[in-house]
Amino acid sequence: MIINKMSFAPNARFRMYTRLNSYWWFFRDLILGRVNKGNDVEKLEKALAQRFKITEAVCVPQARVGIYLVIKNLIKPGQEVILSPYTVADVINMVVYAGGIPVFVDIEQKTCNINPQEVEQLINDKTGAVLITHLHGIAASAHQILEICQKRHLPMIEDVAQAFGGYQGRRRLGTIGQAGIYSFGRYKNINSWYGGAVVSNDQELISKIRAELDQYRYLGNFFILKRIINGLIKDILTSPLMFKSFVYWIFRYGFLNNVKWINRLVEVELDIKLKNKMPADYLRKYTPFQARLVLSQLNQIDLETKQRIEKARLYYQGLENIPDLVLPIKGNDAKYIYLVFPIQYQKREELLKWLMRHKRDVAAQHLKNCADLPSFSTFYRDCPVARKTANEVIVLPTYQGYPISEVKKNIKVIQSYFTNASLNH
Ligand SMILES: *Cc1c(COP(=O)(O)O)cnc(C)c1O
Repeated sequence: MIINKMSFAPNARFRMYTRLNSYWWFFRDLILGRVNKGNDVEKLEKALAQRFKITEAVCVPQARVGIYLVIKNLIKPGQEVILSPYTVADVINMVVYAGGIPVFVDIEQKTCNINPQEVEQLINDKTGAVLITHLHGIAASAHQILEICQKRHLPMIEDVAQAFGGYQGRRRLGTIGQAGIYSFGRYKNINSWYGGAVVSNDQELISKIRAELDQYRYLGNFFILKRIINGLIKDILTSPLMFKSFVYWIFRYGFLNNVKWINRLVEVELDIKLKNKMPADYLRKYTPFQARLVLSQLNQIDLETKQRIEKARLYYQGLENIPDLVLPIKGNDAKYIYLVFPIQYQKREELLKWLMRHKRDVAAQHLKNCADLPSFSTFYRDCPVARKTANEVIVLPTYQGYPISEVKKNIKVIQSYFTNASLNH
């Protein structure tokens, strides 16, 4: 019975990018009192600057804190920051803490990123910066927006949390504007539990950020440990053996029967609030232990990216002929890294249920249209494309270790949904 179930069960929708050393090194360093010892943060900063062919890189405790530090140093308090509403809600908080006023710009359906025409229309005398996000590893219209920003002498900032390793027009994403912010958080393509880096050619900006970070303590061991334990549990539950033999079946039951408490376990970002104060644990320094983790992953990242691009190619090829599905734009002059492969469909719930019923495990994109969230109602703007998109995106897995055979099964089941749907019309 178990064997039978396992052979039909899918691989998990998400896996983290942890390796055994992500755990082992932490406990080793903890016991030896070495978490904060060594010059590995400096080494990593040099390696990143070299990789991105940029003058400066500085590690930050979380990408969102990097966004906060960059904005704070590039705008005057009370200035407007133009940004996409279809992003991580806490990024909006960072803009507010940095003294900015978020101005939501609608997105383009094909990229899920901000619309350059709207950016141009919304720039005014109060604008201090434009923050673009390369969501899903698919580039925003960075060059076009850069041109608009340059005309108005405004800094363009790139949130490259999901796009480490991508290019547009021969420029690496994150190095097109004034500053780029990468993330080494969980579920990103490089994982050191928390963390990120700001890259820029603006030495003055980086010096200011360094000076501020120097005043802070290191990320606490306990703070990191909590996340590692949480990660360990997820890594075990989503390991193919555990996942296929029983975890999947529980979540599948929960999803197909609308069991709220089960479904809540897989939802991310439930805590979407306008926080009125910077959380105490945010303003910290990145630890040498974490830098060692990233350094150990840097030489594999290009290979892993290639494998993700190959999975994306298969998804394109397998799904292109379905008129009702919106696939991500291809970008001929660009290399996207497809942290996931986002597809959009109007009857998302129905397709997800079909997938689950046919023993697939894929998920809706959990991000919300922040312009519509009650927490951010002070900054409300009508962004119809973001509203529609936020209700329609399904993210197909591309993560390293996700088998090609699973990609093919996903395609096959999606195809069968549409064949079946057309038969029923
Ligand atoms: C993950 C993410 C962030 C935040 O990264 P942290 O390192 O968790 O702070 C910001 N923006 C986007 C688009 C992200 O995906």
